[in-house]
Amino acid sequence: MTLRAVLFDAGNTLLFLDYERLAPAVGEAIGHPLTADALAARAGEAARRLERSTGTDRERASEYLEALFLLAGAPEPSLPGVRDELLRLHLEQHLWSAVHERTAHALARLRDAGVRLAVVSNSDGRAEEALRAAGLLDYFAVVLDSQLVGVEKPDPAIFRLALQRLGVAPADALYVGDLYEVDVVGARAAGMDVVLVDPLRTHGGADVRTYGSVAELVDDLVARGLVSEEG
Ligand SMILES: [Mg+2]
Repeated sequence: MTLRAVLFDAGNTLLFLDYERLAPAVGEAIGHPLTADALAARAGEAARRLERSTGTDRERASEYLEALFLLAGAPEPSLPGVRDELLRLHLEQHLWSAVHERTAHALARLRDAGVRLAVVSNSDGRAEEALRAAGLLDYFAVVLDSQLVGVEKPDPAIFRLALQRLGVAPADALYVGDLYEVDVVGARAAGMDVVLVDPLRTHGGADVRTYGSVAELVDDLVARGLVSEEG
């Protein structure tokens, strides 16, 4: 078989926190130096904590950021300052604005092979803006933002809505995410195959295929004949 559609999560799958922008700005705001490297190094641990937390995904997003900055060295009493500065930075420009250099090329390969592309994101109404700023929006036929559609992952309804808009059956589609409880559980409930982008290998042992990047995933889909670049 060949895949007719690939659907993507946004945060930590297509788009990443811009550590180079956030570390110095937050560090200066709280009077405690932070480095981009420290944030990058602790991202996996913060994500694992996020997976275990409850509540809405929007609450989880704040919890993720707070956990990440604490792990990267921000003192506990500085947390209100961290929150305020992140909010200011997010209003100025979407926090999740960094994109890996090979991602656009990987998406172009899928599109050029006739695969329909979509984004299903638990977001705050700004997923499309973030994708546009990152130069990725034009690759996607459908972008669903949980804030705008009123349902969020892992509810299978948001995955089914995306498939419906693409006109593709779940068995002919693949979902790509980074969180087991949100992405894997939800996509499977909607009848889709699912893989994780997991560069820090935090899901070792889980019953799901993982890749270091979107580009690595596309290489593998082509190698396995699930995407055909001929003709
Ligand atoms: Mg994500």
